Amino acid sequence: MTESVAELNRHEKLRAILAERKATLLAELRKSMEEQRTENSSMSFELAQDDGDKSVEDHERHVQASVQSIKSEELDIIDLALEKLAAGTYGICQECGCEIPLKRLEIQPCAAYCINCQEDIDQLNKRDRLGVQDNQSRLDTTYDYLPDE
Ligand SMILES: [Zn+2]
Repeated sequence: MTESVAELNRHEKLRAILAERKATLLAELRKSMEEQRTENSSMSFELAQDDGDKSVEDHERHVQASVQSIKSEELDIIDLALEKLAAGTYGICQECGCEIPLKRLEIQPCAAYCINCQEDIDQLNKRDRLGVQDNQSRLDTTYDYLPDE
């Protein structure tokens, strides 16, 4: 009985975390698009600008566009997380199947692993990279010992 209440609490909290993140992203995206629109309309008044200013503006617009695409990508991820939450598969570690702590999801709503598994995976990745280097240097050493003749 108490467990299902805790489950419900967790579900509600996860939903709140995702909803809040989504609202923030939407607001930021809207603001960024509005800024761009304001810029575009003021642009027509400044057509006589020299090229130096124009390239800075182009750069700024480019940065803004990539910020927007990052944000809409993140929105997609949040939507996916909300779907997973509805299906009951959100916030579950993909490695060990345990529940990812709320604190971790608050910071990283898209985390797919619990902290322990994430650390293991990071370690493995690091070891893999080192392993490749080890093999490489061992090969080099073998060549060093090859006789010249
Ligand atoms: Zn795990």
